[in-house]
Amino acid sequence: MPKDSFVKATSFYVDFDRKTGPDKLSTHYCPGCGHGNIHKLIAEAIDDFGIQDRTIFVWPVGCSVFGYYYYKCGNVQVAHGRAPAVASAIRRAHTDAIVLVYQGDGDLGAIGGNEIVHAANRGENITVFFINNAIYGMTGGQMAPTTLIGMKTTTTPYGRTAANEGSPIRIAELLAALEGPVYLERVALTDAKHMNRARNAVRKAIQTQIQGKGFSLVEALAPCPTGWKINPVESRGWIHSELEPHFKLGVLRDKTDQIEARPLEAARFVGTGLDLHLDIADDTGQKARRGTLADAGYADPRIKIAGFGGQGILLLGVALAECGMQAGYKVSWLPSYGPEMRGGTANCHVRISEAEIGSPLVAQSDVLIAMNRPSLEKFEQNMRPGALLFYDSSLILVSPQRSDTRIIKIPATEMADAIGSTRVANMVMMGAYIQKTGILDLESVIGAMPSYIKARKTIPLNQQALRKGASFVSENAL
Ligand code: SF4
Repeated sequence: MPKDSFVKATSFYVDFDRKTGPDKLSTHYCPGCGHGNIHKLIAEAIDDFGIQDRTIFVWPVGCSVFGYYYYKCGNVQVAHGRAPAVASAIRRAHTDAIVLVYQGDGDLGAIGGNEIVHAANRGENITVFFINNAIYGMTGGQMAPTTLIGMKTTTTPYGRTAANEGSPIRIAELLAALEGPVYLERVALTDAKHMNRARNAVRKAIQTQIQGKGFSLVEALAPCPTGWKINPVESRGWIHSELEPHFKLGVLRDKTDQIEARPLEAARFVGTGLDLHLDIADDTGQKARRGTLADAGYADPRIKIAGFGGQGILLLGVALAECGMQAGYKVSWLPSYGPEMRGGTANCHVRISEAEIGSPLVAQSDVLIAMNRPSLEKFEQNMRPGALLFYDSSLILVSPQRSDTRIIKIPATEMADAIGSTRVANMVMMGAYIQKTGILDLESVIGAMPSYIKARKTIPLNQQALRKGASFVSENAL
């Protein structure tokens, strides 16, 4: 046997320092578990393909939730079942990355059943390692979608029945019914012969992605001695005697020869954008700065807009995002759909940024536009210190509680009434915001109105409202 057979792959950490507890050399998996076996096969493939510096793992919820303890690669741990969706986004943003998804049967087949189907159907250029041990291991041995008929679990103490729980799902066969996947194979993590086949499947799946050919998945039947309540040696035999008759081993799809290799593109992701959002310093210690198109204090705003349904809250957000986009910014608009019929509440999140936007969610706002009292009281607490607070003083008769924000009182509803319609109070507020911050050119915003106001005959009134709001700020030196 060659001397280097037992050398640890370099894509593993030498010591698992991220792991809690004193033992930094062994994994957290139970003795005899299959996760460690396939981790090794994947790590060796990463080494051999020379892709460690561009590999990003997407980890699930389940026994392998701590996969990031072990791999010295990019690691993202995501919400239960959502790994294929997150991996799709990462893969599209980082077009030179190798994105490896790792999921168990509960995460992939149950909670994330829809995610894997649609990612596979889209033919995302990602590689999925699906660890099937027919049980929920981490949470104590509940029935999984792949649990066999008759198998006793904590949630099927008398054994699974097709009549009550349905039949075990053959995930690889299910995905093979779709057009999107390029390579699908089921393997078993048992003896040397099967491990060798698993090794080849792991490599082929990763290579499919490296060559830009599309979606690949390896389903690995893996021992879970703890969940099955048998010893590690028996568990390997159990895979062949019990699991394999239902989950046939072998290749279910291989279109790799039919698809032309599409070498991965150079990344189109703007590096500074990620640095900015993650607040990462470069090699010289400098951190990315926000854009300076507007006054530095108002640039790259995270805006929350809130009020009653019927006040045009969502439209105000759309209008800001649309005008921001036309002005060359990156923008996002995230509406919150509650019961926002007239009298209900509505809010939306808007980002206007010079850098790529990592998340459209505005958890802490730089700007709050509050059009009614409940909105002020609810969202004022989530403003950053020094943030701008615009509120409709016609309807909000209480004072803001925060003393560390900059408060702009606009009698927007009153002003809108004065020019003919309460419904344009949102445009009064938008005019005030633009005038105060200079984030957008007022005349351009007025000129672009047909792109965000559909009711053409109301455009003159809306334009008038915008000017009114802007004038109010300048005339009162707000
Ligand atoms: S419960 Fe099963 S799958 Fe989870 S670590 Fe233990 S043996 Fe592995």
